[in-house]
Amino acid sequence: MPAGLSRFGAEERRRLAVEACRMLERLRRHGAGPDGSVSRLVYTPEWQAAMDEVALWLSEGGLEVRTDAVGSRFGRLAGELPEVVLTGSHMDSVRGGGAYDGVLGVVMAGCAVRWLAAHLGRPRRTLEVFANCEEESSRFHCNFWGSRALAGLIEPGESERLRDASGTSLAEAMSACGFDPARIPEARRSDLVAYLEPHIEQGPVLFQANQVIGVVDRIVGLRMLTVDLDGMAGHAGTIPMAHRRDALTGAAEVALGTERIARRRGAPTVATVGSLVVQPGGFNQVPGAAELTIDFRHPEEQVLDELESELRQLVAGVAASRNLTARVERRLGQRPVHFDERLCAALEAACAEAAVPWRRMPSHAGHDAQLIGTLCPAAMFFVPSRDGHSHRPDERTEPEHIGAGIEVLVRALVQIAYAEP
Ligand SMILES: [Zn+2]
Repeated sequence: MPAGLSRFGAEERRRLAVEACRMLERLRRHGAGPDGSVSRLVYTPEWQAAMDEVALWLSEGGLEVRTDAVGSRFGRLAGELPEVVLTGSHMDSVRGGGAYDGVLGVVMAGCAVRWLAAHLGRPRRTLEVFANCEEESSRFHCNFWGSRALAGLIEPGESERLRDASGTSLAEAMSACGFDPARIPEARRSDLVAYLEPHIEQGPVLFQANQVIGVVDRIVGLRMLTVDLDGMAGHAGTIPMAHRRDALTGAAEVALGTERIARRRGAPTVATVGSLVVQPGGFNQVPGAAELTIDFRHPEEQVLDELESELRQLVAGVAASRNLTARVERRLGQRPVHFDERLCAALEAACAEAAVPWRRMPSHAGHDAQLIGTLCPAAMFFVPSRDGHSHRPDERTEPEHIGAGIEVLVRALVQIAYAEP
């Protein structure tokens, strides 16, 4: 173990937690709302200000800062080898979100690499902090924009096609911030050998179990479907109950049945009916058509297949009993992602060295690491979210957990970037 690591103890952790919280406060100002929320959407002035602020902080820590073609920032600590170990997360937020989702991962990564630069000096492999421009899809439906750019997964013409609520295209928004959409392919990386993403949990598991680190070994798979039910619209007064073909009551049965499917299967299965649109939607009209969206998540692809087939049977039964016509369509399928076992083991060894209570767990939300994992081995770890809250103004992680997380990241990066590859 490098001698510099012996500095670590309660005092060093506290000092790092203070530094991280100070930086979080600096960043919180960019996009802050009166209710304590943060709305920092990509390619807006507040986003630009936060990106500049983080770049300044990284360069103050002795890192060489670079901006890529889509606006992500990288703080580099050059090693003996050009191959890069990347660590960080995203800088954008949802609308009305908090000050921790994404940004805390960037700040923890920045604290860890700045610490390594100051105390251990030049690594064997090059280290880079990743301040990703966009992950949340909160302004454009751009779906992991920054990490897709790194992975070369942005399609030609996509930036012209995607528009925000006011009609501005992503390409126009990029240009307004000084980025040339024609250069997007230049963001692609071929020098990455590992990616570690620290992130808040966004759920209650660690908080309730009094654990500090969640070593994330996979991201659950996702299946999104729509169910369309067609019956017969008509007068709410004149159509007798026996003659009705009410699409909404059918949809209600499908929604409750979907919940039953998930409960019967048990944890970690989750199923959500997130939206229900009814036509014609009048007070005095029998609903003739209804569309529901269904979101299933589970770590095994085979279980997702079974959930989908149970749903199809359910819908067919409801349609037959209520004389409706039904259509089930798969809108999105994301396979479960398994993270790199060696990186997970490095994180666990780091938790053990730091004497921090941890557990292995899946992530139920999507993250940059699943895209960057297509380029190089990747893994994530979570720190607790108070009460499991996320994507809301009262999102919070305790400073002591932030300090512990930074120490774990430092120790993991020592194994990955300072030891002989
Ligand atoms: Zn996030």
